[in-house]
Amino acid sequence: MGKIVGVMLTLPFNDVFDYLATDDAHIGQIVRVPFGREKQLGVIWKIGKSSNLDDKKIKPIEQYLPLNPLKPELIKFVDWVAQYNLAFTGLVLKMVLCAKGAFEDEKYNFLYRLTGKTLAEAKLKNSDARWRVIDLLKHAPYSRAEIAQGAGVSQSVIKTLIDAGLLEPLPVKKQKEFLPPKIHFNKVTLTQEQQKAADYLCAKCDGGFSVTLLDGVTGSGKTEVYFEAAAKVLAQGRQVLILVPEISLTTQWLNRYEQRFGVKPAKWHSGLSTTERTQTWKAVSENRAKVLVGARSALFLPFADLGLIVVDESHDHSFKQEDVVNYQARDMAVVRAKLENLPIILSTATPDLETIYNVENNKYDCVKLTSRFAAAQLPDIKIIDLKKDKPVKWTVQPLTPNNQEENIQKPKMSWLSPSLCQALQENLNKKEQSMLFLNRRGYAPLLICRDCGHRIQCPNCTAWLTEHRSSKKLICHHCGYMTDIPKVCPECGSETGLTACGPGVERIAEEVKGRFPNARVEVLSSDTTSSFKEVSEVISRMENRQIDILIGTQILAKGHHFPALTLVGIVDADLGLMGSDLRAAEQTFQLLSQVAGRAGRGDKKGTVYVQTLYPENAVLQALAENNRAKFLELEKQSRKTLKLPPYGKLAALIVSGANPDMVEKTAYMLKKYAPTENGVSVLGPAPAPIFMLRNKYRYRLLLKTLRNINIQVILKKWLKVVNIPSTVRVETDIDPYSFM
Ligand code: ADP
Ligand code: ZN
Ligand code: ZN
Repeated sequence: MGKIVGVMLTLPFNDVFDYLATDDAHIGQIVRVPFGREKQLGVIWKIGKSSNLDDKKIKPIEQYLPLNPLKPELIKFVDWVAQYNLAFTGLVLKMVLCAKGAFEDEKYNFLYRLTGKTLAEAKLKNSDARWRVIDLLKHAPYSRAEIAQGAGVSQSVIKTLIDAGLLEPLPVKKQKEFLPPKIHFNKVTLTQEQQKAADYLCAKCDGGFSVTLLDGVTGSGKTEVYFEAAAKVLAQGRQVLILVPEISLTTQWLNRYEQRFGVKPAKWHSGLSTTERTQTWKAVSENRAKVLVGARSALFLPFADLGLIVVDESHDHSFKQEDVVNYQARDMAVVRAKLENLPIILSTATPDLETIYNVENNKYDCVKLTSRFAAAQLPDIKIIDLKKDKPVKWTVQPLTPNNQEENIQKPKMSWLSPSLCQALQENLNKKEQSMLFLNRRGYAPLLICRDCGHRIQCPNCTAWLTEHRSSKKLICHHCGYMTDIPKVCPECGSETGLTACGPGVERIAEEVKGRFPNARVEVLSSDTTSSFKEVSEVISRMENRQIDILIGTQILAKGHHFPALTLVGIVDADLGLMGSDLRAAEQTFQLLSQVAGRAGRGDKKGTVYVQTLYPENAVLQALAENNRAKFLELEKQSRKTLKLPPYGKLAALIVSGANPDMVEKTAYMLKKYAPTENGVSVLGPAPAPIFMLRNKYRYRLLLKTLRNINIQVILKKWLKVVNIPSTVRVETDIDPYSFM
């Protein structure tokens, strides 16, 4: 007979579509249905009819995929994420069904085995070659290629035997094995403080939903501690999800995991091949992959029996996705833990104010690690006042005294103060490693013509092009636009006017190489080293002490452990502080603390030099004193006064389109119908700081409400009354991080 069910498609819809299903169809089944002229992937979301279509017009489900159905908790989670972030439910579901290969017909490998039919019965002559095949297959089935090799025969011999019915194919699923972690493989001896924290976390693994902040200074052994909780959950036969910032997923972390558990974990990140994605997705949904470490998108995988979530470096902004669906993976991970009734651990040395607020209000538990492991001490932090300790220009030291060309070089701009240079020299003399941090990719953030004042801008964005000397290109960091570095000024034609303005990491590397010609210097930044492999290799060289001075962007801040690193220089601490968005101070404090936290993790104490024009700045003072509490107190006060998160709620509206007038008009129309309830206010509209992005003009509005107000309800109501023209897009971003 059949019944009608509602199917959620992986398309931009919030509602289900009705389909005719078999009697035994049930919620969560992954199906393929006809939709328009195409076939679409979907999930049975509810039983019963949702539309008022005539029953006869309802089409039957075409295919029930032979996969485990989505669990009710996961369906609830998808609905929840969609509601909270005002995203289409179908597009959130798409993030779950994110392994295309898993939904296609299975690809089989064929092995061949003997049927028992004899050569005589098949009326074939005896031959050595044929007998070698038969002998080989007496032991085990093999593929054609293996038979050809193992028996030393041609493919035609095999084909004859198959056609005559002596051999038959044995289809086997192509499936990758994920070896189970060895729970007791290499358990480290924890310090007393670590053991206490581990016990605390393990106890949480016996009792349903809880959120625990694992708040430990850099180098205190947080990873070792949460590994114990993971081991406990593995012993229960359940799965563990470890979310990390994508860039931390390098060999270094994986090696540590392998050292502890004796096998490799399953991985999930943007660099996986389609086959790897498919294999991993299936293994997770069948409980064959026990531990999965992944970037934020791993949160949407269909775990069969999840028992624990860990969010490592939980303060990291890369957990916030700004893409098709805007969401904060750390916060959504807490929601998933709640819906699945399991414990979650947020691990960081620099928790964000939202997390601290939840701890102070007893929504989250907290366990602390206050000291570094073993003899390691926290580094000394010295503030360098660039107004007094001014960088002095430098010249390339001639390789030979007669080298005329080198000798006539003009002195070059400098960004390193004399005291930092001296510290670097001393560290080199001691054969210890140093690191310089500047959160700016490329050689120079801007090319300007000294003759006519022209600045080279991206044709698609309101942004300057960054000069990358290593690749000889000008690149837009917002849209990826790339062009050759012009030889003459495109405006006035001057051949000498174009000048690089300000430093990026490549320019710092040039200075360091010029000043310390014998040092081994390398740059680590997300574009010079684009692949995981390259990043991992630089990191390994640093670990193996094949680098004396490593220069890099924020990629350096992510959890690396370099025991021989004793000097860290922060080239421009003011860079982040100039940002006007609400998290600028917090992010700077976190970033600088994390970078500083790389120093002195071995047996030698480290020193951190922080270069600034504003040494009296409160954030830098707190950093220098290693006084997180002081910083947090300041930050709390300022956010409380302004009713900013966590003391209030925010949602951004980004209005964009190809026609600037239409965009502006729509933005002002939104303002006209802005909600007027008590405790709700709307800021803007204003042209976005990056007014043009990828050829689209943009305006922003910011909705601000008190904490106890449901901001989603207000936002939905608002968007409903305004008629948005089809050429204009209005994007919503709940709890925005970016204000560009
Ligand atoms: P965090 O994540 O808190 O910065 P890590 O977990 O990276 O700290 O630990 C820092 C270093 O100390 C790592 O190399 C780790 O293997 C080592 N370590 C920490 N605790 C122990 C322990 N109990 N026994 C042996 N090594 C440890
Ligand atoms: Zn010019
Ligand atoms: Zn651009």
